[in-house]
Amino acid sequence: MRGAMDCPYPSMSCWPYCLGLESAVQCSQIIVKWREMTLLFLMVSICLFPRSMSCLLSNTSYGHQRTFEDIEKEIARYSDVAEKIIKLAVYGKAQNRSYERLALFVDTIGPRLSGSRNLELAIQYMDKALRNDGLENVHLEPVKIPHWERGEEIAMMIEPYNHTIAMLGLGGSIATPPEGITAEVLVVNSFDDLHKKAREARGKIVVYNQHYTNYDKTVLYRHHGAVEAAKLGAKASLIKSIAPFSINSPHTGMQAYESDVPKIPTACIAIEDAELMARLFSRGTKIVVTLKMGAKTYPDADSFNTVAEITGSKYPEQVVLISGHLDSWDVGQGAMDDGGGAFISWEALSLIKELGLRPKRTLRLVLWTGEEQGGVGAEQYYKLHKVNISNFDIVMESDEGTFMPTGLAFTGSIKARCIMKEIMKLLKRLNITNVYEDGGGTDINYWIHEGIP
Ligand SMILES: [Zn+2]
Repeated sequence: MRGAMDCPYPSMSCWPYCLGLESAVQCSQIIVKWREMTLLFLMVSICLFPRSMSCLLSNTSYGHQRTFEDIEKEIARYSDVAEKIIKLAVYGKAQNRSYERLALFVDTIGPRLSGSRNLELAIQYMDKALRNDGLENVHLEPVKIPHWERGEEIAMMIEPYNHTIAMLGLGGSIATPPEGITAEVLVVNSFDDLHKKAREARGKIVVYNQHYTNYDKTVLYRHHGAVEAAKLGAKASLIKSIAPFSINSPHTGMQAYESDVPKIPTACIAIEDAELMARLFSRGTKIVVTLKMGAKTYPDADSFNTVAEITGSKYPEQVVLISGHLDSWDVGQGAMDDGGGAFISWEALSLIKELGLRPKRTLRLVLWTGEEQGGVGAEQYYKLHKVNISNFDIVMESDEGTFMPTGLAFTGSIKARCIMKEIMKLLKRLNITNVYEDGGGTDINYWIHEGIP
């Protein structure tokens, strides 16, 4: 971890007070113990940030000039506030609250697939819950989202012997004909391997048995597997789940067709089944699979991003955005993806409100809709609000699981990173001080690409 002295601030020379550090460092740290497990969830909301950290060295109307040492001192003055938040969240009456709220929510609503009735109910539920929590400016912002249903689906290996394949159709996939598709299998280990075997692909079901490296790289097989197989005349594609480990558990997700490539049905299969077929194939055994999928795509549905705020006392027009997504896939409860992220984001506002704190900038909670279909709700939010982009100081999202926190991932200028590191020191007592590279997420990347930290 870099120390303050590594930061590219002139030690004693001056730079504009654009940082706004006369304003509050309102670091909210949500640290919640969840029952038997000590799970620490962290959300830092930094209300001290200026009109985006990109203005760090610009001249502003603040007029004052400060050194990094001044900033360190200013941030350190918030240790009492941080302590109060930690006490309330970890040891006080808010202990377990976020977990209990989430358990009630997922047990009551269940899965929340884009376009589903359940997602509508979830949004209504949250709208009411946020109002009951006494948050400000609670409202719903309309967006259009995809509406796809998986329907009945099954995959059977019928040669060399009968074996039911653990499968889940991929989001947006077309259906098979009602009688299904029965075809010989071509197993490939990579896109390169597919292209080497290009002449064998026509009329086959292509099974991708790609090696898992990391999610970002390996997920390309799920996104583009169907299109690449279809280009070579395949009838369907089955993709080994994008995961390093499986207990016969296929893992669904979104895939993308291309307008000039025929659409073929596509599903993910459990790692075990992909590897079984790869072994059979490598020994020259003929494999035949029957795939039946009843997926349907409907016209886009009406939905909403759910918003609540604590209005800023000094710069109410400036926004510190905290978020998670409410929608989920249809085959689970979405407790972790992204119930956890959504509910710790809500908890951040609850804690601040309960302590009677009022940040200088507006703290805005956004619960996105249609994330799993490609950040659809967030994209429309961005298009609607980018006209005010200079008022967005920082955007945050939790969508990678709320497990044992060790810090946060941050994208921004080196100077902004230095400030973030100072702020994270307020969590030293909980040993949650890391500031990692490459912060971001599907729902906030629109802003990050525009330079918002
Ligand atoms: Zn997610």
